[in-house]
Amino acid sequence: MKNILFIAPPAGGKGTISSKLVHDYGYIHISSGDLLRSVDKKSDLGLVIEEKISKGELVSDEIIFSLLEDKLRNLKGKAFILDGCVRNINQAKKLTEILKVIDINLDLVILLNVPYESLLKRVLGRQNCPNCKEVYNIYTKKPLNEGICDRCQNNLILRSDDNEETFKVRYQNYLNSSKDIIEYYQNAGILVSIDGENDPYKSLVSVIK
Ligand code: AMP
Repeated sequence: MKNILFIAPPAGGKGTISSKLVHDYGYIHISSGDLLRSVDKKSDLGLVIEEKISKGELVSDEIIFSLLEDKLRNLKGKAFILDGCVRNINQAKKLTEILKVIDINLDLVILLNVPYESLLKRVLGRQNCPNCKEVYNIYTKKPLNEGICDRCQNNLILRSDDNEETFKVRYQNYLNSSKDIIEYYQNAGILVSIDGENDPYKSLVSVIK
């Protein structure tokens, strides 16, 4: 199986697609956002992280890689999906270095394209299950019972960064940093672009095989 990295705007659908890949193919899903959100919010590190996330700003590369490196070293031969990392060119270069040291290849970088208006709608309607990570949307994918996860019955929550003001910052960050990252992986010959609105999972499955 191919090791995959996603480049996508915030709410671009990488989380949803990743959970399907985990379910259908047994991928290990490594989401830098989930790793950050799993740090105890009352710890010193958790406070630093939450402050950045709630403003839509990037957490330092140092923190990201301190959480990520362990995950990459513990894959035990399984294929991975990297979701949310890399967010800037330094992270891309650092990731290349780490993967080289642990002797793993990154095979495919998927660029998900989604227009701004659709992204905003996704963000404003999004509800998340903190337990099983299922994602709902009050406009397009309502849970059967309001506020409750269909899969595990946990209460759904809203992310602190899912509001219009923070979304604009996150989207701008994405535009500023993605150009260099895209070029970096294009030069490496492993970038594939996918329409994120038109059955992206189907397109993706055809390229990972
Ligand atoms: P995500 O769950 O990927 O939408 O990420 C949510 C937030 O976590 C982002 O807006 C950033 O504040 C932070 N974050 C996630 N991944 C990274 C990363 N690779 N580098 C820096 N900050 C990140």
